[in-house]
Amino acid sequence: MILYLGIMLTSQVFDTTGSPALVSVPNDSDGNEVYTYNFPFTTRAQWKARLPKETLPLPSPVPYVVIHHSYTPAACYYSEECCQSMRSMQNFHMNDRGWWDIGYHFAVGSDGTAYEGRGWGILGAHALHFNNVSVGICLIGDWTNAVPPVRQLKTAQALIAAGVDRGYIKSDYKLVGHRQVRQTECPGDALFKEIQNWKHYSPFPASVDDLPEVIQLGK
Ligand SMILES: [Zn+2]
Repeated sequence: MILYLGIMLTSQVFDTTGSPALVSVPNDSDGNEVYTYNFPFTTRAQWKARLPKETLPLPSPVPYVVIHHSYTPAACYYSEECCQSMRSMQNFHMNDRGWWDIGYHFAVGSDGTAYEGRGWGILGAHALHFNNVSVGICLIGDWTNAVPPVRQLKTAQALIAAGVDRGYIKSDYKLVGHRQVRQTECPGDALFKEIQNWKHYSPFPASVDDLPEVIQLGK
């Protein structure tokens, strides 16, 4: 509780000292559709995203949602810190990986805010061989040993529900952890255990070895 108060105070200090405007509703400079949400949402313009080098449409609605953790950057607890994490991930993906944009469709901070990545209806780069059939959501932080705060989990779930409502995710979608479609520790042991309690969690594919079968089934 003391920690949380400390964070709130820090956040207020930032809000009153002329940090990037995070309060007004922006226009989306990338031409993505602007929606309102029943949870805190920060657009690309608000976190000062670079323009994507290129975009391709994602055939929607998709049958899968893939959950990630960032590992690094570490968990962020107030908006300016999370915006910095978004910029850092975008720079890493574009400069070091050579991708067109930040890989994820969305990321969620421990401040309980969803941050727009590539956004709805755009092909992502978050799960090799699985990008054509999925939306990728990253919970910012290293969730190997600790579970994300409840507000971070709730916002991730509300974001998925919004994607279903708007026709970008199938209503009978399957939710998987990144490690089920690629050899990786992602999304961390603790978060992976947590998502297995979520309603749409699917144990199949269990590993990358199952992917040929998924593709054959056309699911
Ligand atoms: Zn991942």
